[in-house]
Parts: sequence; C-alpha cells; structure tokens
Amino acid sequence: MTANLLDYDLEGLAAFCERLGEKRFRATQLFRWLHQKGATDFAQMTDLAKSLREKLAGAAHIQGPKVVSRHDSADGTIKWLFDVGAGDVIETVFIPETDRGTLCISSQAGCAVGCRFCSTGHQGFSRNLTTGEIISQLWFAEHFLRQHLGREDRVISNVVMMGMGEPLQNYSQLLPALKVMLDDHGYGLSRRRVTVSTSGVVPMIDRLAKDCPVALAVSLHAPEDTLRDNLVPLNKKYPIAELLQACTRYQSSAPRDFITFEYCMLDGVNDQPEHARQLVSLVQAHAAQGLSCKFNLIPFNPFPASGLKRSDMPQVSAFAKILLDAGIVTTVRKTRGDDIDAACGQLAGDVQDRTGVEQRMAAQRQGMLGGIKVVVAKGMGV
Ligand code: SF4
Repeated sequence: MTANLLDYDLEGLAAFCERLGEKRFRATQLFRWLHQKGATDFAQMTDLAKSLREKLAGAAHIQGPKVVSRHDSADGTIKWLFDVGAGDVIETVFIPETDRGTLCISSQAGCAVGCRFCSTGHQGFSRNLTTGEIISQLWFAEHFLRQHLGREDRVISNVVMMGMGEPLQNYSQLLPALKVMLDDHGYGLSRRRVTVSTSGVVPMIDRLAKDCPVALAVSLHAPEDTLRDNLVPLNKKYPIAELLQACTRYQSSAPRDFITFEYCMLDGVNDQPEHARQLVSLVQAHAAQGLSCKFNLIPFNPFPASGLKRSDMPQVSAFAKILLDAGIVTTVRKTRGDDIDAACGQLAGDVQDRTGVEQRMAAQRQGMLGGIKVVVAKGMGV
C-alpha cells in the first residue's frame, strides 16, 4: 500500500521525502503542486526531476474524494456527497457570498455526540476521517470551483469545520489538516477564516489553543445544564461552566477577539424570553472573567426524526433583541441551500452506525420531554 500524499502536512511530507532519500525542500515543491495547483498525477509536476517523479510513482499516490453526487442550490450553494468506503458517505458544502466563499467540511463519518436537533447525530457514528479525507474536501472543492468558474485565483476564502462530525473528537487527524489550510505553501488561509466548531470537548479546546489556534465556534444551544444535557449530550461530561471557562482560556490565543456561540432556535424548547435572559446572565458572569463572545442564532432546519420545530421569526427576533439590548453582539444566520438539504444541521450523508444511535436517541427523547415540561413551566411563570 503506497502513501496518500494528501494525508501529510508540510512537515509530514518533508519526513516522507527524507525517507525516500530526498532533500526536505523537495517537499515544499511537491506540497505546492498538490494544494496550490491541484495536481492529481506526478507526471504533471514538471519542475521535479524525472527520477523523483518515478520514485514517487512507486511509493505514493494522490487519492482525492470519490464523488457520489453534486447538488446545486438555486442560491448558488453546492453540496457534494463523497464515498469514503464501507458504505459511508460524507457531505461537503460550498456557500458563495459576495465577499467570500466558505467551505463547510466534515471531520467524521457520522457523529457520536448525538445532538437532538442534528441530522448527522441521528445517523450515528461510523468512524473518524483521515487527514487526507478531511483536507481532500478542500483540495477537491477549490480546484473544481476554479475550473467550473473559470478562475485562477483562490475561490474558497473561509473554511468552517461544521459539516458531519465533532472535529475535536478526531483531533489527531484534524490538526495536520488545519496546518495544510493555513500553510502559505498550501491554501494560505488566515487563522481568522478557519473556524473549528465544537459541541464542547473541553480538553481539546485547550489543546487547540496551544497547537493551532484558529477561530472557535461553540454549539451552546441552551443556557442551563438540564436542558443542554438533553440537547447536546456531551454536556453531561463537560457542563456549561467548564465549557465557558475553557472558552475564556482559549481567548488569549484566539485569532479573533471573540468566541462565537451557536444557538439553534427550537420552538418551545430553548427559544423563550426566559432562556435569553438566562444567557445574558451567563455571559455577563463570564465576561467578568474575560470572556468576550457573539451569538449566532440558527433557525432550526426540521427533519422528521427530530420531533422538533423551527421557532418562528418573531420569536427569533424577540430573543435576539433581549441579547442585543444587553450589549451582546447577535446575528441570525441566513439559511442557505435549503432546497438541497445543505443547510446547517441537515447534513446526514449515509453512515453505517456502530453506536446504537436509535436507542440513545429514544432515551434522549424521553429525557427531553421532561426538560420541555420544566422549561414551559418557567416560561409561563408558573
Ligand atoms: S451538532 Fe455537531 S456535535 Fe452535535 S451531533 Fe451534529 S455533528 Fe455531532
């Protein structure tokens, strides 16, 4: 089995070149061919000595993702399904905007966290993606789009690790992929434009701060632990107070001067004025310790198995107003790619679950019913 060169960051590629008896600087040339020019074949790499190209052909290969299908939304969003073997299919989404092009990348085939409102969570978990499988989503999309749009300059300016999977539960494979994204010989993306989104794997937030601080988004979705335990089960391991302390620590290394909190608006579950007021108190308590944040309210994209409904827009606006009036920067996410199931929380791919997700979800639904009763009672002032 030869090595897939997309599995390496520049350092890893330099070590690989040394193993072939080549000078380390050859790795930089090779890396540029791979990531800046999107080469798929060693024969294209004309500034490398023929002998090296022959050596590479015997010891390595360039394996991009296998495209299952492509879906184009009326709003310009593109979603790809990629086959990663053994019946697992992952999804990648490109979202064009006037001033940027964002790629939403998957880090796992499925996800073991099992958030109630997330289509991926309902699919269960099969396996972690390799570094090559993570970075090749960018490799493929960037070079496809350049060709498709007839452009020579960079098309993708932003990457969000918000596709399928919890990226911080696949840290060892994620880290080299992030380094390739940031490397000037790779994609040269700014740290501020690469976002890792996490449901709150506290020890790995600290690791990321040391190893490769990029922008951080945290899926919060609830202002208190009982409700968050139900919506984001990882909360039982890393409750809100611990999570916000980790965010505060992260901030000293973060490339942006705020952490983004994602908050999916679920009708009658977490969208009441009382919840907004609880969030304000939570944020104010941590602001005193140095936390600075912004909120991104996400209209829920319903899918049948969730049993949940989208909050209506007046509810979302009223919720946003409470946060804004308290001086908290708050935006409401525009939904994109609805018509091709590419919107936030809709990515499901096709995953061979190995974790008994159905039983877990049934148990969560039970717990959730209890949670809703408490919440409604509070909201009604009972
Ligand atoms: S929201 Fe993220 S962490 Fe939660 S189940 Fe979905 S992919 Fe996993």
